[in-house]
Formats: sequence, C-alpha cells, structure tokens
Amino acid sequence: MPLTLVTIPCLDDNYAFLIANDVGEAALVDAPEAAPINAELAARGWTLKTVLLTHHHWDHVEGLDGLTGRDSLTVIGAKADAHRLPLLTQDVSEGDSFTLLGEEVRVFDVSGHTLGHIAFHMPASELLFTADSLMALGCGRLFEGTPAQMHTSLSKLAVLPPETLVCSGHEYTAANARFAVTVDPQNAALAQRVADITETRAKGGFTVPATLALELATNPFLRAHDPNIKATIGLPDSSDVDSFTKLRAMKDAF
Ligand code: ZN
Ligand code: FE
Repeated sequence: MPLTLVTIPCLDDNYAFLIANDVGEAALVDAPEAAPINAELAARGWTLKTVLLTHHHWDHVEGLDGLTGRDSLTVIGAKADAHRLPLLTQDVSEGDSFTLLGEEVRVFDVSGHTLGHIAFHMPASELLFTADSLMALGCGRLFEGTPAQMHTSLSKLAVLPPETLVCSGHEYTAANARFAVTVDPQNAALAQRVADITETRAKGGFTVPATLALELATNPFLRAHDPNIKATIGLPDSSDVDSFTKLRAMKDAF
C-alpha cells in the first residue's frame, strides 16, 4: 500500500513533511512548528508515531515538544548530532537502515550545512528527505562544513533513482533560480523551470518537492561538472570540486 505524503509549510519559509500509511499511522520529517503539523494530523485523523530529525538547527526541531502525543513519539536523528538534538529514542548513522510504516529507510550523512546533517531515503516510495543539504535549485549554506564535504554529500544523492522526490526544507526556490540562471544561462530546462516556479509562486503554490531528475537537469550545485557552467564562472579547466566551491561562494555573495 503506498504511503501518503503531505507537505506542510511552517514558520516563514520552512517545510515539514508527514507520511502516513493506509491505517493513519504517520511519521514526521522535521518539526519547525507544532501548530500547523498538529492541525494537519487532526484534519486527516492521523496518529503521529515517529519523528525524523535531519539536523539540529532550531527551525527544524523547535516544534517537537508541542506535537500531539509527544510523550509516546519515537524520535530518530543522527548519532553524530545527538549531543545537540532534542533527546533521541534512536540514533542513526550513514549506511544504517530502519523500518518506518512498513518501509525501509536508508540514512545518508550529508554534512556541509552542518556537520552531522543526515538525509532519509525511502526507496519503495521514492522519497528523499534532504532538508538543508540538497534543496530545490540549490543547496544549504555551509555553516559548519567545507565545500568539498557538501559536494561529496550531494554526489551521494545524485546517483539515486531519478524519479525520486526530493523533499527539502525551505521554500527558497525563487531566490535560488535568480542565481542559477546567472551561472547556467544556456540551459533550456532551467529556463523552463524558472518560468514554472514563477507561475507556481504567483499562485501561492509550493515548489517543493521536486524530482531528482529535475534537479539533475537544472540545479547548478548538482551540475558543477558541466562544461558550460565551468566556462561561465571562469573555471573552464577546473576540477568539479573547485567548480562547486566557486558556485557556492558566488551564491553566498549573490
Ligand atoms: Zn539548517
Ligand atoms: Fe533550515
């Protein structure tokens, strides 16, 4: 039985994700704010059982204590970050897998934005929860890790099945698009996506999640190897890591 995915806008521009099975058992990925998550659970008649945390930043964990049924929740997060996450009932590391709502979840270390940031992949449902690692048309800012670390992290996700839905943590896509077109101006798929984003946002819609295939075709941070991008940013003969490093620095200054 397929799982149901619901995207919940929280705070100014965060997303939380609920997934549920056909008997209304639900799991949450990140807890930016309790009220909209509790409201969604109540409206659908779902019972929250499990919370997956991607990283320790306040805008991903602050809502945890206010969640309905808090005392009986299983809370899963990175072992490497256990010292600065809310109290976990289960800690996980890269390469671990566990069962959630009857499906396998695989854990990736995607450090870069923070050290200890993890992503959760559910192969059967083709869902990937990336928070502030791989984002729609972008990647998270490097608060703790190096560009090389983020490049390695994104490279792990880039090889997953292209139909995978990338569920990232923020609605930053329009701003990411403004930067992306400056470094990849000849990319027709990107131009089309930018038009789609403009239309979606004008109607108040979400640009998250998006397929990995679309990210591979348009996200400059997955395309640091692309000869046109390298030439545009003035590094025609550079390594992919150097190209990525420059892209990240250019975005920070954009
Ligand atoms: Zn963050
Ligand atoms: Fe965040």
